[in-house]
Amino acid sequence: MYRLDAQDRIVHVNRAWLSFAAENETALTPEAVLDRPLWDFIADKETRQVYRMILTRVRSSGKEVYIPFRCDSPGIRRFMEMEIARLPEGAVEFRCRLIRAEKRLPIALLDPAADRSDELLQICGWCKRINLDGGWVEAEEAVKRLDLFGAERLPGLTHGICPDCHATAMREIERTRGEGDSPAEA
Ligand SMILES: [Zn+2]
Repeated sequence: MYRLDAQDRIVHVNRAWLSFAAENETALTPEAVLDRPLWDFIADKETRQVYRMILTRVRSSGKEVYIPFRCDSPGIRRFMEMEIARLPEGAVEFRCRLIRAEKRLPIALLDPAADRSDELLQICGWCKRINLDGGWVEAEEAVKRLDLFGAERLPGLTHGICPDCHATAMREIERTRGEGDSPAEA
């Protein structure tokens, strides 16, 4: 869970969510993110835009938005849900809930400590699939197709958002329209 104030500064955080928006998962601690704007941690333009739309929507409607996402570690697939809710005075809270977890053989490509080459692969920050020439595949599949198993150095990862996750977020924003918004709290 983390909380933003009306200026999108991170004012409260717990450890569970850190890897979600993080581009460098090893560097982030609660101490390192507090009092900094959320935007410091989201470099990708399209991802920023989606966050802005969600925040605007939640703040103006007072309705919760729910977004499924993955928070994987090399050896565990974590299926999560994020609830984004308005608090008084323009603050917004992101609550993350584990839906289910599955063990798998550890994937070095997702290990922040792995040795990296200059090559970059794009990973969706939400569903954690990898962009292979516009086709988004699970990390296991990407490792297979790129023949990375046992590779000495792995491509680096850069975060983005895939079309499916983008569409899910837009649908969720759309869902909160129409029933009449609750007035903003002071
Ligand atoms: Zn995605």
